[in-house]
Amino acid sequence: MQALAGIDDSEELSSVSGPRRVTVLGATGSIGRNTLDVIRHFSAREDFRVVALTGMANVELLAAQAIEFGAEIAVTADEEKYHALKAALAGTGIEVAAGSLALEEAASRPSDWVMAGIVGIAGLAPTLAAARAGGTIALANKECLVSAGDLFLAECASSGSAVLPVDSEHNAIFQVLEQNQRHAVERIILTASGGPFRDWPMARMADVTPQSAAAHPNWSMGMKISIDSATMFNKALEMIEARHLFAVEPGQIEVVIHPQSVIHSMVGYADGSVLAQMGSPDMRTAIGFALAWPRRAHVPVERLDFAKLSRLDFEAPDEQRFPALRLAREAMTAGGLAGAILNGAKEAALDAFIEGKIGFLDIARAVEDTLDHLGPGEEPDTLEAVFEADRSARETALKLMVA
Ligand code: NAD
Ligand code: MG
Repeated sequence: MQALAGIDDSEELSSVSGPRRVTVLGATGSIGRNTLDVIRHFSAREDFRVVALTGMANVELLAAQAIEFGAEIAVTADEEKYHALKAALAGTGIEVAAGSLALEEAASRPSDWVMAGIVGIAGLAPTLAAARAGGTIALANKECLVSAGDLFLAECASSGSAVLPVDSEHNAIFQVLEQNQRHAVERIILTASGGPFRDWPMARMADVTPQSAAAHPNWSMGMKISIDSATMFNKALEMIEARHLFAVEPGQIEVVIHPQSVIHSMVGYADGSVLAQMGSPDMRTAIGFALAWPRRAHVPVERLDFAKLSRLDFEAPDEQRFPALRLAREAMTAGGLAGAILNGAKEAALDAFIEGKIGFLDIARAVEDTLDHLGPGEEPDTLEAVFEADRSARETALKLMVA
C-alpha cells in the first residue's frame, strides 16, 4: 500500500542513536507494572536499555523485574530491605542500593525516559532528581505538581525535561489540547467515575472500611489512589494538577461525574466545540502514549465497542458528600503553599483511615481543619519550603485528628 505523502507509516520507534534508556520509579506498583508491560510489548520493535528500577517493600518482585529487563541498578527505598534485595540479585551483576539518597542517585542517572510512578509526596525528590538530569518525564505521580507545582515545572524547563502527563485525565487533555489554539481554551472538563460510593447517602459513607473504599468500580490501581477516588480527593488533586500542567485559572476547571470512565477528559473551546479523548479504562493507553510520543504505537488494550456501551452518563458532583472538590478550588484560589498543605494533610489522614484510626468522612474534615489552621502561606521559592509545609501539614492534621 502506498504511504500518504509525508507520513512515515513504519512502526519503528527507536532513533538511530541506539537503544532508548528508560528508568521506572515505582516499578513494583500498579503504574510501574503496567509500564514494564508496555515496554515488554514495545520491545518487539524497539531496543530499550533499562537503567534503574525502584520499589520499596516487595523486593522479590523488584529483583525479578530487574533480571527480566536487565536493569543496571535496582533500588529499594526501604533501607531494611537492602540485604534481601542484594541476596535476590546475587551473581546477576545488577547493582543494588537502598534508601532515599540511593533512590535520588539512581533517578538522576542519564536516561531518555523516566516513569514517575512512586505514590505520594515520596515521589517528589526522586522525580525532581530525574527532571534535573534532563530526560523526558512521564508523570504519573500527581503530588509533584499538587505540592510543588510551578517550582517543579521550572526545574523541568531549565533542564529541558519534557513533562508528559500520564494521569489518564491529563493525558486525555494533553491529547486534545490544540497547542496553537491555547488562547481559545475556555475550560478543562475533568471526568470522574465518582468512585464506589457515588450515590451513597452520607450516613452510610460514615462507616465504610478501607477495603470497600479501595474497591474502585472501573480502574485497577494502587490502594491509596483507589481510596482517594472514593473520597474524590483524587479528583481534587487532579484539579490542582491540571491548573499547573495546562496553565489555566481555577474557574476554568470543571469536574463532571461520568460513571462509565470511557471519556477520560475534555477541553472546551471558544467556538463551543468540546474535544474528548476516549478509551477503555486501562492505564497502558496513557503509558503507551507517553512512551511512543510524539508518535503513536500499538498498545494491546481492549478496544471500545460503542454498540456494547450503549450509553454514557454524566452528572454534577455533590460537594456536600464530597467536600474534596471544594477544598481543591479553595486551595487553588488561595495559592501559596495550600496545595502542599492539602496534600500533606490528606496523606496523613489517609494513612490514619487505612490504620483504622479515623472514619472515612473524617479524612476531608482533617484536611479542611488543617488548611484552616495553617492558612495558605507564601508562594514557595525553594523546595525546602514545600517539604516543610508538607511536614507541618502532617503534624497539624495528626494533632487535629486526635483532638
Ligand atoms: P502503588 O501503590 O501501586 O505503587 C507505588 C510505587 O511506589 C511502588 O513501586 C512502591 O514500592 C513505591 N513506593 C511507595 N512508597 C514509597 C516511598 N516512600 N518511597 C519510594 N517508593 C515508594 O501506586 P500506583 O497506583 O501505581 O500510583 C503511583 C502514582 O501514580 C501515584 O502518585 C498515583 O496517584 C498515580 N496514578 C496512578 C494511577 C493508577 O492507575 N494506578 C493512575 C493515575 C495516576
Ligand atoms: Mg486520574
